[in-house]
Amino acid sequence: MTIIWGLVLKGNRKVAKKIEKNYRRLKKNHSWISFILFAVLVWFVGGFVQFFVNNFVDYLIDSKLSSEYETVSYMAKLYSKSLANGDDHIYDLLDESGRPYIIKDEQGTIVYERGKNTCSEESGKVLLYLFSDPIVIYTDTDQRILYPKENGSLKIDKNKLSDLVVAAMSNPEDYQEYFVNPEIMNNTLWNSIGTNYSEMTDEEMEDLLLQMREDGVEGSEDISVYNNDLVGISFDSGFMNQFVQLPVWLSVELEDGGSMIAKAYYRIGMKDLVILGILGIVIVLLILFVLIVMLVNAINSFSSQRKMMNVFFTDVVTRGHNWMYFQIKGEQLLRKRSSAKYNYAVLNLFFVKYSNFCVCHSIEEGEQALCKISNLLNRFIEKKEMAAHVSTSNYAMILRYVNKDELKMRIQRILAQLEKIDSEHKFGFHVGVDLLPANADENGSAARRKNLDIEQEYNNACAARATLSDSDDSGIAFFDTKLVEEQKWIDIVQEQQKKALENEEFLVYYQPKYDPRTNELRGAEALIRWDSPEYGFITPGRFIPIFEKNGFITEIDHYMIRHVARDQKAWLDQGYTCVPVSVNVSRAHFIESDLAEQIRDMLDEVGCPHDIVEIELTESAFFDDKKAMINTITKLKSYGFAVSMDDFGSGYSSLNSLKDMPLDVLKLDAEFFRGESEDGRGEIVVTEAIKLAKSLNMRTVAEGVEVKEQVDFLAEQGCDMIQGYYFSKPVTKEEYQEKMSL
Ligand code: C2E
Ligand code: CA
Ligand code: CA
Repeated sequence: MTIIWGLVLKGNRKVAKKIEKNYRRLKKNHSWISFILFAVLVWFVGGFVQFFVNNFVDYLIDSKLSSEYETVSYMAKLYSKSLANGDDHIYDLLDESGRPYIIKDEQGTIVYERGKNTCSEESGKVLLYLFSDPIVIYTDTDQRILYPKENGSLKIDKNKLSDLVVAAMSNPEDYQEYFVNPEIMNNTLWNSIGTNYSEMTDEEMEDLLLQMREDGVEGSEDISVYNNDLVGISFDSGFMNQFVQLPVWLSVELEDGGSMIAKAYYRIGMKDLVILGILGIVIVLLILFVLIVMLVNAINSFSSQRKMMNVFFTDVVTRGHNWMYFQIKGEQLLRKRSSAKYNYAVLNLFFVKYSNFCVCHSIEEGEQALCKISNLLNRFIEKKEMAAHVSTSNYAMILRYVNKDELKMRIQRILAQLEKIDSEHKFGFHVGVDLLPANADENGSAARRKNLDIEQEYNNACAARATLSDSDDSGIAFFDTKLVEEQKWIDIVQEQQKKALENEEFLVYYQPKYDPRTNELRGAEALIRWDSPEYGFITPGRFIPIFEKNGFITEIDHYMIRHVARDQKAWLDQGYTCVPVSVNVSRAHFIESDLAEQIRDMLDEVGCPHDIVEIELTESAFFDDKKAMINTITKLKSYGFAVSMDDFGSGYSSLNSLKDMPLDVLKLDAEFFRGESEDGRGEIVVTEAIKLAKSLNMRTVAEGVEVKEQVDFLAEQGCDMIQGYYFSKPVTKEEYQEKMSL
């Protein structure tokens, strides 16, 4: 059964592995998509913001500070030139601009200073690159902007609105009242002034302006005429025309290596601010949009992942958890550090005769029962425990326990409930348990179970459960390392069986049967031994049950019959008096409809007479197909073979079989002769069994007789033969030959 289960689990595991792989792949892909989407969005928005900020700042600097820079450069050039010409009046000239400035020599020492020096090299130093030359801009707390005049007079370039500047060169204090907003110089106003504006005298300009004001030309209120120029556009002409000005200090290199640092104003019009604000809002909205998209995406992927998990982790039959869930979540649970301090048990619960139940009722009813089992198991488990439906009749569980006895009692309670899950039937369940005691490191503190393989643990539980497979009643089996050894041995036997048969490693031993009254040899039983070159001398108990399970037993039976027939024929030819030798035929073999013919042909092949070979059939085999069995026995008898019932009295009563089967020999099981029976009850049973056999015209063989008293007693009761250590152990062919008479 262990072997069969091993195969089932292997198949199961293959499928589970595949599903698990797909599941992980799908899960992985999903997160990749989200990640890529996220990265693209971040890249897109980041790029946009950067592009926007760069360009906007460039635009602001270019448009708002360039003329200031030009002016300061001009002042610096003028200064350098004048100094070179030995012109001392340069400071007066520069002072006339009204602009505070500082001249520094090459060492950075201040040579000349005009106005309030608010230029701080410690605070607010910003480096900007304008026209590829670096300009140092110093901020101060003043809120003014000044445009100096060029060559002592105000310069207005009519083609460049942004160059429309204002200056009050003679009186810097008044000058502070005037601000320029080029934007206000709208087309209407400009058109009204006309193109000949630069040729007009002050008076003509005044007249024109008055006329314009009378005509109500927009913006004309804000201009006045000064020094042959239009000046002084005040900033009360509507919100959009107001501006914010930031004082800055511009530094320009001098030809002698020093520098001129002059105060300038960096002016941002309200319009710019509004655009900036709108763009800011757009950016914020864009970022919000991206965040919302990401959030929606995350929620979506989370919910689809949950759905996917439900599909992956839900058992189609029971609607509870499936093997996948157990495998993934169970392993996670057991590997947790917090789990290491508890004793855990992995269980395999098997619903015995599930297939029978389905055959007798219906698959639907069978599945209903599976659902009920699943529900009941889920009711029994507690937090940090687990139950899942693995395959048709198998469930997997993880339970926490204090000690083995307590766990066993708990499982028994579960089994008691499971057995009566259906009012009309009593179900049977087998439970295999693999214990995982609390894990501790060298210091005695809980240590994570790192190398845990839940599949292996479950397989161990299955292997333990498989040891119960012979019974239909509920039972619990615990896994231990002995089981692993057994499994290993099973694998070795299976691997070796074919080669061993071909190499004739199997030997036939003979155990003689004697007449208890005369001590004469009356028969023998052929018993197999395996003399393996690798594993030594092996008794049948270690390999016959394996062969019975894997079907190799039929080959063994053939091998034994052929060898016994050959030996008997050889002895006959040598003139020995051959007594019948019985050969064990397994129940698996007995159901073959042409078994009698096979045996007959094997004997005929070597020319061995049929009456010196007997066929032994074990008592438990009589529960199989009775009709087929009677048929085979009848045929065997018709070919001249004697048939015996082996191990009579060892298992279930086979009295009924005795009634139906035309058997020749009854072999009383060795158990009758083990230990002392009370009040001689054993003797009574043996006496009656012999009597029964006699009245059915059967001969009797007592097996496992080891002491003289038993021999005497059996002789008294009329037992025909004794096969036991008292007379002889099973011996080699040669030793047996010596016991035979010529
Ligand atoms: P079995 O057919 O009941 O064989 C009798 C077993 O009882 C033999 O064990 C034998 O050595 C043992 N025995 C006989 N007298 C005594 C005794 O006085 N005291 C004790 N303690 N044991 C005694 P063995 O040879 O180990 O065989 C064990 C079982 O293996 C057999 O039980 C039989 O079921 C199976 N077997 C052995 N050879 C074959 C075979 O060739 N084919 C098949 N199908 N089964 C075989
Ligand atoms: Ca036997
Ligand atoms: Ca026997």
